[in-house]
Amino acid sequence: MKPAAARGLLLSSLCLALCCRGGARGSPTRLRVYHWRGGVGSWLSTSHWFIRVCDLGAPWVTLLSCHLPPEHGFEERQKISDNHEWKKLIMVHHWPVTVCKEVEKDCRDPPDYWTIHGLWPDRAEECNGSWPFNFEEIKDLLPEMKMYWPDVIHPLNHSHFWKHEWEKHGTCAAQLDALNSQKKYFGGSLGLYEKLELNSILQKLGIKPSINYYQISDIKDALASMYGVVPKVQCLPPKQGEEVQTIGQIELCFTKDLRLRNCTEPGELGESGRAWGPGLEVCEDGPAFYPPPPQSAR
Ligand code: 5GP
Repeated sequence: MKPAAARGLLLSSLCLALCCRGGARGSPTRLRVYHWRGGVGSWLSTSHWFIRVCDLGAPWVTLLSCHLPPEHGFEERQKISDNHEWKKLIMVHHWPVTVCKEVEKDCRDPPDYWTIHGLWPDRAEECNGSWPFNFEEIKDLLPEMKMYWPDVIHPLNHSHFWKHEWEKHGTCAAQLDALNSQKKYFGGSLGLYEKLELNSILQKLGIKPSINYYQISDIKDALASMYGVVPKVQCLPPKQGEEVQTIGQIELCFTKDLRLRNCTEPGELGESGRAWGPGLEVCEDGPAFYPPPPQSAR
């Protein structure tokens, strides 16, 4: 028997065994681990189906779900699910006025400066579920955290937001020695934020919240000329009755050795459509609203 065939047979047997074991225990969640990412698992994902399939001894179903083409094979799916590789770090600043508009919740008095949303490795999330957020570790940073990394939506309880950012993004960023503890991740993010000085740079460029609209290309070009790299700007698309999109986030990107780099390289996917929050999208070229904080709008 050829090695590829032997491997296939082994995988089939393994899949069949796993399928029937999980099904017999009525554990759809467990089964989903083996099948979901292959794309065929969605319609097989109830214990009912698994039990029936295994009772009927229908290995072809198992073979169908396990024997995907090589690019979707078992090992490949394992790789995809465990793939926490990333290439760049994204410092995400958000404009609190737009955050409040986006969630349409009762977030009064949003800060009138750009704050940190997060420091995010690209293409990696929730890398270490066994590394829980520990508020004690960042206690020393509390004044700066509250000031520059507030939970804009829940200003009375910031730590939920920090916990979320740590678990989703920080545990991945921690692959770098420079960010390999909670203190280093949050402290390092604050350091990058301070170094970038986005608020004063925007001021210097004359880009201030205004009832007049800006051209997105003007903002991007101005930022690129100051930082020497291409930023990414994200907007809320116009709601019904609104004329234009609203600026929401500005991202500046770093290499793994924490040097500024373009957020998008020529030819790289990602300049269109990629949303980082409900409703946020890469801004369309054209006019955009940079909304003043409520009090100064009066
Ligand atoms: P991510 O989950 O990748 O960190 O960011 C996207 C999510 O963050 C979205 O669900 C968005 O609504 C949420 N978000 C943005 N700003 C804030 C904030 O200031 N506080 C909280 N709690 N969530 C936020």
